[in-house]
This record gives sequence, C-alpha cells and structure tokens, in this order.
Amino acid sequence: MAKGLTPKRARLDALAQLGKDLTRRSRAHCELCGHGQTRLGALEVAPLPGEPDMAHTIFICEPCQEAMGPKDLDRQYWRFLETAIWSDLPPVQVTAVRLSRQLSAQGEDWATSLLEGLYLEPGIIEWLNES
Ligand SMILES: [Zn+2]
Repeated sequence: MAKGLTPKRARLDALAQLGKDLTRRSRAHCELCGHGQTRLGALEVAPLPGEPDMAHTIFICEPCQEAMGPKDLDRQYWRFLETAIWSDLPPVQVTAVRLSRQLSAQGEDWATSLLEGLYLEPGIIEWLNES
C-alpha cells in the first residue's frame, strides 16, 4: 500500500490500475448490458480477494451501476440478463445470477425460468455459495 493512503483509497487506486485491461477484455462495452460508447467503471464482485484482480471485477456502464442500487430492482431494465447470464466471464455470470435471483424473489417469472434453465459450472456454484 502506498504511504499515506487509506485502505479504501488504496483499493480504489489498485482497481483503477485494472482499467486498461478491463477495457481490452470488454472491448469497451458494458459487460452486463453490452452498451458501447459510454463511460465504464470497474465494480468488484464479492467475496473480494486481498487485492483487486480481473477475475473478481466487472466493467460496467453507469446506468447498470445505478440500477443495482435500489432494493427493488427495475424489472424492465434488467431484461438483458437473459443474455448476460450466459457470459463466459465468471464475475459477470455470478453478478447476473445474483441479480436474477433478486428479480425472481421479487416475483419476476422470466427471471425464475431463466434460473431454472441455467447450467452453471461447479466453480460458479461454489462462488455463489461463498457469499
Ligand atoms: Zn450496462
């Protein structure tokens, strides 16, 4: 950790360092909704490793970050999870499953069917069970 930085600040700095690689991985498109030509930000996916790394980080647009905020998710906004949930990037898939579970708990039948039809690798199931 650099001298004089709070742990939180140091973590954000370390996360910002991943920006270039995340831009390359995402081809500058939101890793959830797929939109390009928009500002993207790194978001860590729990449980967090000691240091930020690519494997536990997603690169997403501001509307997606904001749409994760409310306790009740916007059912219309998140329909693209039907695509995102099949991502071959583990942190993206884990995020999509968590959001779909939340929507399913809110009574969204499409999210429930989506989860029922889903095949998950053992590593992803383990990750989901960890948190
Ligand atoms: Zn997005």
